[in-house]
Amino acid sequence: MAQRKHLLPTIGLVLCAACSPSEKLDPVSQVEPAPGDAGAQPDGGGTGDDLFATLPEIAPTATGRGGAAATVDLRGTLAAIEILRKGGNAVDAAVAAASVLGATDPFSCGIGGGGFMLIYLAGEGKVVTIDHRETAPAGLTASAFYESGAPIDFDELVTSGLSVGVPGTVRGWSEALRRYGTLGLGDALARAIRVAETGFDVDRTFFEQTGRNLERFRAITSSKELFLGPDGEPWPVGTTFKNPDLARTYRLIAEGGERAFYEGEVAEAIVAAVGSPPVEPGSALTVRPGVMAPSDLQDYEVRVRPAVSTTYRGHTIHGMGLPSSGGITVALALNLLEGFDPEVLTPVEVLHRYLGASRLAFADRGAFLGDPEFVEAPVAGLLSKDYADARRDLIDLVKAPTKAAAPGDPFAFQNDPSPSPGGGQGARGRSARPNDAGDNETTHITISDAAGNVVSYTCTIEAEGGNGIVVPGHGFLLNNELTDFTLPDDPSTPHPNVAEPGKRPRSSMSPTLVMKDGKPLLALASPGGSTIITTVLQILVGAIDLGRPIDEALAAPRISQRNAGDGSSDAETAFLSTPEAEGLRDLGHVFSDKSTSGGEIGAATALRFNGDGTVTAVAEPVRRQGGSAMVEREK
Ligand code: GLU
Repeated sequence: MAQRKHLLPTIGLVLCAACSPSEKLDPVSQVEPAPGDAGAQPDGGGTGDDLFATLPEIAPTATGRGGAAATVDLRGTLAAIEILRKGGNAVDAAVAAASVLGATDPFSCGIGGGGFMLIYLAGEGKVVTIDHRETAPAGLTASAFYESGAPIDFDELVTSGLSVGVPGTVRGWSEALRRYGTLGLGDALARAIRVAETGFDVDRTFFEQTGRNLERFRAITSSKELFLGPDGEPWPVGTTFKNPDLARTYRLIAEGGERAFYEGEVAEAIVAAVGSPPVEPGSALTVRPGVMAPSDLQDYEVRVRPAVSTTYRGHTIHGMGLPSSGGITVALALNLLEGFDPEVLTPVEVLHRYLGASRLAFADRGAFLGDPEFVEAPVAGLLSKDYADARRDLIDLVKAPTKAAAPGDPFAFQNDPSPSPGGGQGARGRSARPNDAGDNETTHITISDAAGNVVSYTCTIEAEGGNGIVVPGHGFLLNNELTDFTLPDDPSTPHPNVAEPGKRPRSSMSPTLVMKDGKPLLALASPGGSTIITTVLQILVGAIDLGRPIDEALAAPRISQRNAGDGSSDAETAFLSTPEAEGLRDLGHVFSDKSTSGGEIGAATALRFNGDGTVTAVAEPVRRQGGSAMVEREK
């Protein structure tokens, strides 16, 4: 339960002696913290070098040497830098940062959700990805999302047990550390345990995120207890927010490993919350139960997959493969753009082509992509340069589109052109989410270490606040990831992304790595639902085609074309008054102002590896009130 306390706690790093079989770092302390001992280890347990003792000024850009980190939150970034400075690698730091964000940014990510981690292993010169996307429970079929022959209202699906996918995060972290880390879960979670236990100041983002969830938090007993004060209002800015239930859950995982999450009391509490949501007596909110069984949690598996790759103007771009549509859609759009020479184009002409390429790529994304264990998506065809060459002429160079593009025929460009049994060529359907757009959910973490390893990691609980249900006694929100499935109006219409038992819903998450001359040049990505893909694309176009420094490319006002039915694009308000907007309007482009539905498109983070051996970490400067970038060693 959150408690109002004095402001500005000091937080120390305390490692649990019983936590981890593989303590390969020098632990700062082996002292088990007493429950509730806020600030008891102000110097980090004895090193006198506690990064959290006095929080530094938050900065969105930092350049230096060794490793670097950028996240949406100062404490997340500090947790990563702390691990790096103590000799941990980028994977250790990513888990530490993500687990701290699970406490400080609980409405975006956490152990109730899933994610995609892309890792560059410098020693092997290899890129791998860890898919820990949530799965549909074995007992859940698409028909569960329909009532009286029509899809259940989207908002009602979000706040329900029905939309909860089997959480993948803990197994993802465990697998990442086991394969590629140097720490065990105990050490990697140590800082997050302390932050959850000793608390942190509620900032404006946390306050506003709680406010946007107010109605449903008031309706869910466990969420109300944690996130609302005794007056039923969000904890005010400046309150020390503590989450001892989350600290205890993290400690169970630290001590017992991933099984402590997927079996036993935590698993039982998840199953109970899904099957019988803890709704306040008398609440008017409809909260449907789901069908998750203990075996769904026990049986959850992560997938270690190769990255999806393409080349672009002398760079190699690595992204996330299915079940995320991110890497393939970004690669396809880049392949389309590669046929144009930005050197001879104005910025307006470059952006016009970016919108056109994104439109075509989204047409194929919508038609063909789904969980590869259920659907034979024509990935080779979609990624082939010949396919892009065949589609490029559909971008009208002097006129904006006024309708959606039809998907192409990538099967003709597969080595083995067999039709997709899962979806069928050109199958259409809509996402459960009405406009399949992003709001304020999800978060992206980019981290490198001194050895040259790089992690680009997007984690999520889907909506801002997930399904709104805190697992009673355990301090974390459940995801509503299954709303990423496609719900055709007629449930019998085939589509590669319809819900099926055990299936992973199609994602847009796009952790990305750009290599040049065999070495990392950029790592980046963003939250934002399907706008993640266009945010990554627009940053790449800004950095590579328009030659902007990475911090400028990341900060630039965004536009997003996702094959809307009327050909229009979303735009941030700041874009609408730019000369580029005027030039694009002259070509016929119509923009919907995103300020009417959340205002922002993506709060990205990035790293740039500079020619002089330094690295620049970049977080979002303004969106979501700005993120935090730091380096291991300042220049
Ligand atoms: N459910 C979303 C996806 O996988 C999470 C990303 C987001 O909404 O920002 O695409």
